[in-house]
Amino acid sequence: MRGSMAKLSVVLPAYNEELNIANTASVLSHLLGENGIDYELVFISDGSRDATFSEILKASAADPRIRGAEFSRNFGKEAGIFAGLELATGDAVVVMDCDLQHPPEVILKMWEKWKDGAEVVEGIKSSRGRESLGYKLSAGLFYRVMSKLIKMDMNASSDFKLLDRKVVDVLLCLPERNTFFRALSFWAGFRTESVSYEVQERQFGESKWSLRGLMRYAITNATSFSTLPLQMVTVAGLIFLLFSLVLAVQTLVRFLMGTAVEGFTTVILLLLIIGGLLMLSLGVIGHYIARIYEEVKGRPKYIISRVTENVQGQVIGAWQKRK
Ligand code: UDP
Ligand code: MG
Repeated sequence: MRGSMAKLSVVLPAYNEELNIANTASVLSHLLGENGIDYELVFISDGSRDATFSEILKASAADPRIRGAEFSRNFGKEAGIFAGLELATGDAVVVMDCDLQHPPEVILKMWEKWKDGAEVVEGIKSSRGRESLGYKLSAGLFYRVMSKLIKMDMNASSDFKLLDRKVVDVLLCLPERNTFFRALSFWAGFRTESVSYEVQERQFGESKWSLRGLMRYAITNATSFSTLPLQMVTVAGLIFLLFSLVLAVQTLVRFLMGTAVEGFTTVILLLLIIGGLLMLSLGVIGHYIARIYEEVKGRPKYIISRVTENVQGQVIGAWQKRK
């Protein structure tokens, strides 16, 4: 059993969630307060264009256990999660959506498991909630491919999880900019347990994901965790080499026998196929070079423009911690 003095931090990335902040803060405060858990709530406003940060400020003024920061622009949910981990001071940190789609009661189960010694508690979706068929199919495909690529079962995984302080520190030490939080906790290892939960309906507002955003997310994450697409270029090259050997022999034999193939049809077809394949391969390689370029530049994952009173002196820019 871990000590009863332990503190739990709840990290909540929020993008244009002005309607949710007050409600989520009070639901979580009541729940954790009633169960005698010492807690803090860390809201990260991801460059919201609505009143999200003023809502956070208001909540924070009313209760010092509520803290928060605002990004200088929209950096994406991953950045929000990592900023939250950086700001969190608890012995265990729960990351969850601030639209209450991740049921708050599950935090209690995670907390119990953590007290019993688990270092990572994964939230596993037992049902995906209400989603459109297209979304379900594409998410299904994405997770199947991802699970294959990174050799971990990602299908029911989510960003809803509890991490022990140790694990948080490990994740914060990673130098990479393109992170995939969901898979990183698997990658990190540690004593992992899981709790399943049902995805709830969004409380207020609407989903922040566009189809384009999701596609970009899928490609970036798949390639940030695997080099398989690069190896596929090699495999395609090998197949074509074999094919060309066979065809070369056949063409030569026919030429010597005086029955060479006539016309440009074959030539045009081959050129088109090979040209297409080459460009596709270049694209795949280009994508990885772009990733390398981004990493080498070494820009911070996010820029914090404002913080609530009670985080003063901790994190101003993610990359320059005030001592
Ligand atoms: N979110 C964020 N930055 C973004 C997009 C989303 O911080 O650029 C947050 C959002 O406020 C919410 C969580 O990520 O707390 C999940 O987003 P959303 O509910 O829109 O996604 P869905 O539940 O539909 O997958
Ligand atoms: Mg949601």
